[in-house]
Amino acid sequence: MTRYAHYHPETRLVHSGGLRTEFGETSEALFLTQGFVYDNPEEAEARFDGSEPGFIYSRFSNPTVAMFERRMCALEGAEAARATASGMAAVTAALMGVVRAGDHVVAAQALFGSCRWVIEEWLPRFGVATTLVDGPDLAAWQAAVRPETKAFFLESPANPTLEVIDILGVAAIAKACGAKLIVDNVFATPLFQKPLTLGADCVVYSATKHIDGQGRCLGGVILASQEFIDTYVHQVLRQTGPSISPFNAWVLLKGLETLPVRVEKQAQTASFLAKAIAAHPKVKRVNFPGDPQHPQAAIIARQMSGPSTLIAFEIEGERAGAYRFLNALQIVKISNNLGDAKSLVTHPATTTHQRFTLEQRLAMGIPEGMVRLSCGLEHQADLAADILAALDSV
Ligand SMILES: *Cc1c(COP(=O)(O)O)cnc(C)c1O
Repeated sequence: MTRYAHYHPETRLVHSGGLRTEFGETSEALFLTQGFVYDNPEEAEARFDGSEPGFIYSRFSNPTVAMFERRMCALEGAEAARATASGMAAVTAALMGVVRAGDHVVAAQALFGSCRWVIEEWLPRFGVATTLVDGPDLAAWQAAVRPETKAFFLESPANPTLEVIDILGVAAIAKACGAKLIVDNVFATPLFQKPLTLGADCVVYSATKHIDGQGRCLGGVILASQEFIDTYVHQVLRQTGPSISPFNAWVLLKGLETLPVRVEKQAQTASFLAKAIAAHPKVKRVNFPGDPQHPQAAIIARQMSGPSTLIAFEIEGERAGAYRFLNALQIVKISNNLGDAKSLVTHPATTTHQRFTLEQRLAMGIPEGMVRLSCGLEHQADLAADILAALDSV
């Protein structure tokens, strides 16, 4: 893995982490096997007690999955990684690995719907108290800390509002109170933001999004120090089994090879479209981290090396206005997925954030007229024409 460590990310994403077999294959091998055979019982014993390296069972170790994990480590600059069946399996395992009954978790309130469910509904069932705070307000994080606070959780930029949180600032508060900071970095992508270098203890991804990038399969990954993975994550995954299929790991591994090309192009398209959308009279407000007028531009400049491939914007006419826009689109498809080669648009208030009350949604920054656009790989002129014509019809 270290062989490619001094190269640029593009080079590492093509070569790092490979485990080439005796056949010398160019493309990484797909190991569709549940188990592994041992030459003798002594070897089996040695694998189980850890005195001999090697694979045991694909619930927790598989060569194709290992290649994906190793390549993700090379990209993120992390010591260790564990792949999971989905992004939510990664979020849940990382959080539940750190806490136990009696502990307390602080999280930003603007979160992907399922992340918020895990924090608000699921953790309390096991005796873990949780507090949701206004993420950009550092004083609110500080005020929420209790003696039993063990974990902080945030998304930045958040899904779907693209609200940005000062990761360095939150990490300092976490460190001071001994809590572990877990960052869901999906919206920034591993290319544009490195939470571990900003003081986070653990980074999680839904690999379903940009890492696959072509809408084919689910996957997730947890990245952290070797100590964090050994202490909080490894046993939880090994014994409870939210394992990724080797086939999915192979798709994601190959997805990493083209990640920089896709994400750079999508971010460029997003920058172009964000300007065109903001200038349209039917648009009330645009939130795009690449906007130089962004209210959090200073924090963005400090912690992100690129914008986002997503744009959140509010259309005139509340829900009816947003629906007229969605119904008029020709190229852009209505879907709650993101990071795909196809441009996708979603209306969060009636889909991913439907279960919240209007008041809760407004507090999260999700008004009825808001849509979230994930920019794909289509020609930007075709996308601009489609989106502006649909806005004209609102
Ligand atoms: C999609 C998403 C998830 C969940 O990932 P799945 O792979 O769908 O389970 C978690 N966090 C964020 C920010 C997401 O966008």
